Parts: sequence; C-alpha cells; structure tokens
Amino acid sequence: MASGDLPAEANGLQLNFCKTLACDNFGLSDAERYVVQHTNPKRPAMVCRECGAFPPLLNNQEVLNELQRLRSYHCAGLPACRNEECQNFGLSVHTHKHLYHAFGYSGDRQRYRCKCCQLTFVDKWSGSNHKLAFQENLLAQLFTGYSVREICRKLEINPKTFYDHIEHIASRCRRKLAMFDARWVNHAEQFELASHYVPLQPKSSNGVFWLTTGDAKSGYILCQNVNYSPDEEPSGELDHDPFNTPARYVPYQYTTEANQPPSMLASSLRERIDQQYQVILARGNVEDPMGNLSSFHYPSKGALIRPPYTSYAHFLHVLSLCPDDRRITIYLPQDPLLRSAALSVSLPRIEAKSIDLMYVDGKWGKDLPIPKVDIVHMGWWRDRWAIAETAEHAKGLCYLAGERNDPKYWLQHASLERTAFYQARFQLLFESFINEPRRKLRPAGLLPVLDIFRAWHNLCYQNKYGVTAAQSLGLTSSPMALRELLS
Ligand SMILES: [Zn+2]
Ligand SMILES: [Zn+2]
Repeated sequence: MASGDLPAEANGLQLNFCKTLACDNFGLSDAERYVVQHTNPKRPAMVCRECGAFPPLLNNQEVLNELQRLRSYHCAGLPACRNEECQNFGLSVHTHKHLYHAFGYSGDRQRYRCKCCQLTFVDKWSGSNHKLAFQENLLAQLFTGYSVREICRKLEINPKTFYDHIEHIASRCRRKLAMFDARWVNHAEQFELASHYVPLQPKSSNGVFWLTTGDAKSGYILCQNVNYSPDEEPSGELDHDPFNTPARYVPYQYTTEANQPPSMLASSLRERIDQQYQVILARGNVEDPMGNLSSFHYPSKGALIRPPYTSYAHFLHVLSLCPDDRRITIYLPQDPLLRSAALSVSLPRIEAKSIDLMYVDGKWGKDLPIPKVDIVHMGWWRDRWAIAETAEHAKGLCYLAGERNDPKYWLQHASLERTAFYQARFQLLFESFINEPRRKLRPAGLLPVLDIFRAWHNLCYQNKYGVTAAQSLGLTSSPMALRELLS
C-alpha cells in the first residue's frame, strides 16, 4: 500500500505519530514511517511500520479549535481579552497580569486594556453582589438536593430566572477559582496530578463525557471539560475524516456499534485490567469511548465533540497552566482516551525528562509496605503492569512515560481517588438534577453547576480534618463560606 501524507500540522502542532514509547517511531511524524490510508474509514488510517500499532489520526487544527472552545468557555465572565484574533485571547488578568494595563474604573468595576491589541474591557464581577442573600439561599437549596422545580416554587421564581442566577453565580465562581488556580500554579514547586473521566449523566446515553484533572493529594480540581458545545451545531462528515475541517463534531446520524463485550464480574484486579482491555479493543476507535455505548441519544440542542478532541485539548490546556520548568506527574485510569492525549501533548516534556505518566488501578493501605511486585504484560499492547497483592489489597500500576520507573515507589504514592471522588460526589449530590427526565438530552443546564461545584469543592468543602483542598495546598488559611463564594 502506498504511503500517504499525515494530516497537516497546525501552528507547529503535530499529534500524529506512533504512541508506543518503546518503538523507534515514537514521537516521529515522517509519513514514510507509517502506512497511511484514507480510502476505507472502517480500517485503521495509520499503522506504524515498526511496531504495528494503529493510533487513530487527528486533525491538528481541530484540536486547536477545540482548545479555543474550552478556553473561551473557561473565561466566560472572566476579565480577559475577547478579541479572537489577538494572541492574548481568553488569557485572564488573574493568570496573566503582565499582558494587561489597569485602565481606570467603570462604576465600581475595574477596567483593563490589552497590551497586544489595545482592546479595553471591565472586570464584570469585581463590584459588589446586590443579590447576595437571595443567591446564597438558592445555592443552599441546590446543594441540599432539591430539584429545579422545588427551588423555583420555594423562592417564587420561574425556571428562566433560576438559570440566570445559576449563570451569574457560575461566573463569580470562575473568577474566584481563576485567582486561586493562579496562586497554585505559579507557586507550586511540582505537580502531582490525577485525571479521571466519567459519563456526565450516566443514565442518559447522550455521549457527553466529563474529563477532570486535579491535585492527587489534596483533591484540588484544576481543570474540567466536557465534549459538548451548547451553542454550536455539528457539521462535517459522517465518518471521522482527519484530513478535512471540521472533523471534531459527532454528526446527528451517528449510530452506535454496540460493541460492548458482555459484561463479566471481575473477581480480581488482573481480571479487571484484562476486561478493560477488551472493552477498549471493542471500540471502532480505541481512543473513543462512544464506541462502547449500547444505545445513543443525541442531545436535543448543541453539538457533541468526538471525545479524543476534547481529551487532547484538555491536556494541552492543563500542561499550559503548569510552568515548563516544574516537574509533572499525571496518574491516569486505564484508558487510551486519556493516555494517548496525555502522552502526545507531553512529548516535549518526555524529551526534557520532566514528566511521569502512569495508569493506576486499585487501592493500597496507607503506610502498608509493598511485599513483592509481579510484572505482567497485558492487553493487545502488552502493557507492562506492576502488581502488588495481599489478601486485603490489590493495586496495579503501568508506567507509561518518564525516567523514574520505580514500581514500589509509585504503588505506594500513585492514586486517582481524590479526582474520582470529586466526580462521584457531584453525581451523588446532584442526582435528581442530573437525572430529571427533561435534562437527559439537555446537558447545557449542568455546565454552570459544574463550575459552581468545582468552586465549592476546592474552597468550601472540608475533609474529615476540617481542611479544604485550597487550604491543603496552602492557598488560603481558612475554609470559605458559600456567602464568600458569591461576594
Ligand atoms: Zn510504533
Ligand atoms: Zn488583545
């Protein structure tokens, strides 16, 4: 078969290369190293001539477009340059002070000017909140688990007013978070992060996934994204075509392949890891968990993004927040959706030997010594897992990239628990909100609640020692009350 070209690079970004770390072609994007075909969309588009791996192709420009979407969502309501043509677009005053001049006031709100394009803007939420008491009450009811309908009835407002308030509160929360996020990333000596993802609405089969990355120890959540864009309409080809733009939207006509292997109950850690590899291989595209949906209902409004694009953009954003000279460790659940993205966008850091990436599964007792470690090669990729087992505990670790492959050390320290707990807690706390029949195909209403929840979780929620995540990281000295979140 003739060797074709790879999808064009965009702004110096080329994410198409062999993702097998031990392969000679790892990180290399010369087309002749691969067999590339795009006549049959049902077959792998690219096969590595060295190791036979078949990493799915991506449209690099579309990864950047997705990154732009995520950033503009993050900065909604934040003081940042809004000029899409400007290189400072979406970079907030809180994280990038040096890019802006303070430029007087508008009422009691601070005005800024972009040093690059001279655009001026006000910090919308720097003034005082005149609806504080009302919003505090609304938020308290929401966190108690009342449905939108009940809250509207109690507060004598209509749903439109309810959602307007939620949007305002979310904007204030994003602004608060941006200040604490900046405090953390600018002062941390290194980063120990844990990523995790789940379907946003587990009972809805609507293809919306929620990706989250936070500090592995304190549980402070740094970044969360969903592959759903409420204000766009999908366009592009029915089959993913990385050679054309747009390529990142899931089309309305998307149908499931129903390839989920029959579910078996895993009785041991090894069985669970092995079954997860079967689940992954059952997907048409190993990096796309939509291939495991046995039924699928497109959200009634907005556009769904092919999950790998959101994942690549998520990690590009996370890495851009962490200064280049600080070491990063990222713990991941066993899934190529996160692995490929984290590995690919970390290429410069892998070369600079300043990153560790690994899969983690299972639990180990705190301060419990690791007796012996079994090395097992698993899955189609023959991934090298280090497994420790006792009668009560089992933990597995697959070191994916880095220079510090010390299984005993990582088996003791690596953990996804804090990030997974954050997501599980959201789904428990807002269960009735998430599963309202009308909401199933309308995920848009949940997006501002995610921001509010992140703020509450990082700044207000106290662990059993009475300490918040922000306190654990030394970002504040005391927990924040709901009221402070809103002022
Ligand atoms: Zn290879
Ligand atoms: Zn600008």
